[in-house]
Amino acid sequence: MTRILSLFVRDRLPTLRDSDKLDEENIMSTSDGGLRRLQGRGACLQGKIVVAGPCSVESEHQVMEAALQLGKLGISALRGGIWKPRTRPGSFQGIGEAALPWLKAAGKAAKLPVACEVAQPAHVDACLANGIDVLWIGARTTVNPFSVQALADRLRGVDLPVMVKNPVNPDLELWMGAIERLRRAGVTKIIAIHRGFSTARETIYRNEPIWRIPLELRRRMPEIPLLCDPSHMGGTRELLKPISQEALDLLYDGLMIEVHPHPDKAQSDRGQQITPSRLRSLLASLKPKKELAAVQDYLRHMAELRKEVDGLDHQLLDCLSRRMEIVRQMSHYKAKYGVSSFQPHRWSAIVKDRTRYGTAHALDEDFVLDIFEHIHEEAIRQQEQETDVIPPEAARLKPVRGAH
Ligand code: PEP
Ligand code: MN
Repeated sequence: MTRILSLFVRDRLPTLRDSDKLDEENIMSTSDGGLRRLQGRGACLQGKIVVAGPCSVESEHQVMEAALQLGKLGISALRGGIWKPRTRPGSFQGIGEAALPWLKAAGKAAKLPVACEVAQPAHVDACLANGIDVLWIGARTTVNPFSVQALADRLRGVDLPVMVKNPVNPDLELWMGAIERLRRAGVTKIIAIHRGFSTARETIYRNEPIWRIPLELRRRMPEIPLLCDPSHMGGTRELLKPISQEALDLLYDGLMIEVHPHPDKAQSDRGQQITPSRLRSLLASLKPKKELAAVQDYLRHMAELRKEVDGLDHQLLDCLSRRMEIVRQMSHYKAKYGVSSFQPHRWSAIVKDRTRYGTAHALDEDFVLDIFEHIHEEAIRQQEQETDVIPPEAARLKPVRGAH
């Protein structure tokens, strides 16, 4: 087998008994599971991992048809949902266990490892009994530490790759927590999948990417390969290409894409699935990026430009530091005359002025607003700390986003 995932597909059925407990050092040293080394072997996207297949396995024929066409594209693994987490009851919930042998047989015929979602320990048992090669934990499960722990306990001693989708809500800690629970159970082959987040904001996406969250995951867990699922992120076929290219520009390790032989007849996620032939043209149109070009011209220019950027960043920090110093001076006058640290009118005026000034200098309005929200929040915190308006213990509490 030449495909990426085939290298970490088990070559025999795993035993169901618990493995010996791994000590902390072992967990750390085995956490990569060698997955990084497996990259560079993909046939259809210059060494990237490509997992593709139907949202749901609907029939023996449907999954076989998808697999045989996908097998010719050189993808890494065939996906297929067996138990579908649907928002409302009464819609198609997946075929269930009976579809596992169809998925496995389709993979076998196409010489592809097969992957499916597990949400409960019983799903893991059924997958193991049917020789499923790769498991994934869906967004609605990652969000629940009880469910993740139950899966992790069941996966103890099972040497299968497990992919972990981001939780439904934009909470990096939950995503990392799920990965850590698996690691502690001794799972060594872990891949993260970024499928976007639910937000109350109106966006063009089904699930908003919020790219900084997966990028922070990668900064904190660089050994975990990161895939993008543009199907659930975009929710429409049109968004597949721009989202996939963005992920490649950000050096993701691969993609998971929903592919159906007849997307318009799909029983779930109809609007976002594409045919295998459309997947072929999509993959052909994408341009993977590299992190570095070992060319003199590139290296010389980048070194010069980076030096300039480093200098500007230091200036930014000097300015911020000076700004906070002035803000702290203000706090004494406010305290003396019983004036609040938060000044709604002043804040409105700042927002108006800075966004106008920023946009006039080619900066994005939301970006400028984000920055000043942070600056303002910190300025108020510093003022209150400076004049002990709030008790010192509370003043030390920095606003923490998403941690519990
Ligand atoms: C899926 O991949 O079929 C799925 C249900 O995805 P998510 O967990 O990202 O919603
Ligand atoms: Mn789906």
